[in-house]
Amino acid sequence: MALEFAQHVRRIPAYPAADGYALPEDVAMLASNESPFPPLPAVVEAARRAVETANRYPDPTNGRLRAALADRYEVPAERIAIGNGSCDVLLAAGEALLEPGAEVVYAWPSFSVYPHLAAATGATAVTVALDAAARHDLDAIAEAVTVATRLVVVCNPNNPTATVVGLDALAALVERVPRQVCVIVDEAYCEFNVREDPDASLALLREHPNVALLRTFSKVYGLAGLRVGFALCGSTELREAVDQVRQPFFCNVAAQAAAVEALRHQDEVTRRVEQTIAARLELEEGLRHLGFDPSESQANFVWFELGEDRPGEPRDEAAIVRGLAERGVLVRAGAALGREGALRVTCGSGAENGRFLAALGQIM
Ligand SMILES: *Cc1c(COP(=O)(O)O)cnc(C)c1O
Repeated sequence: MALEFAQHVRRIPAYPAADGYALPEDVAMLASNESPFPPLPAVVEAARRAVETANRYPDPTNGRLRAALADRYEVPAERIAIGNGSCDVLLAAGEALLEPGAEVVYAWPSFSVYPHLAAATGATAVTVALDAAARHDLDAIAEAVTVATRLVVVCNPNNPTATVVGLDALAALVERVPRQVCVIVDEAYCEFNVREDPDASLALLREHPNVALLRTFSKVYGLAGLRVGFALCGSTELREAVDQVRQPFFCNVAAQAAAVEALRHQDEVTRRVEQTIAARLELEEGLRHLGFDPSESQANFVWFELGEDRPGEPRDEAAIVRGLAERGVLVRAGAALGREGALRVTCGSGAENGRFLAALGQIM
């Protein structure tokens, strides 16, 4: 007999998982915005030592990690929420804030996890189109807020389009949003933004208790496989609520220890950011050379429209993605991200980026 599932299970979209996990070696993995750099030896060692204590449950308060983050960001530890990846904190915030009749506002195309927020809770998703330069339209977002809005999510830099909005514009949006509405700024890629100090947005927390900055160890710290992220909150309320809706042990011992150690190596973070930005410039130049016009990336990936073969004949995105895969290069198709006819490509190692550009050149 078939099982009877809850209504909302059918509403939740399947996350567009990348291919490649079953493929043989030697594939350029440029589909998931991961770091091409493995974790630092000291971070691996910290995780290894933590695994030796794995007969014990992890610290449910994430005490050492929250203290280290409090130190690093000058935000009180009681306002720092930890998660099994930052998506865990985001979805918990959705569960804590949303319900049928409530609304969540975000731009589209944006991060593919955001549609889960409404689907999982029975709330209504209100999506706001990006502007002509593939950036968030913050005026339109402010106008989309109604008395039913409980949550606004701004992805900055935006995944998948790699674009940013400035802190002034973001601060102006927050001013316009009523104080009882939570504003989550998803800053998974903020370290790669050269237009603004990545920590400048912390100023928002000092004036706005309804704001939270969502950050992760998955990207710049290269710990995607361990699953650890966090939110810096403007008040303790949100942290308490997201902890309340989850199971007690949401961040494992290895992830907690690795994250604490990773925070001690900020020089290495800076070095990796510099290397990623050099790779980004190379990719952008290579794409322009092939006749494409990538958006202005402030992240660790690039986004570009494929355009047309001839007027009125858009290039075949699926065929291009397949052609790249046949040449051992995995990228993310726009169709899976809310805009068909575009590609998102992670800045990989020099060799991977070269391989991608050569393969794309062959296909064109
Ligand atoms: C990669 C990414 C994250 C990070 O998710 P984790 O659960 O921390 O791995 C969050 N937001 C956006 C927009 C991302 O692209």
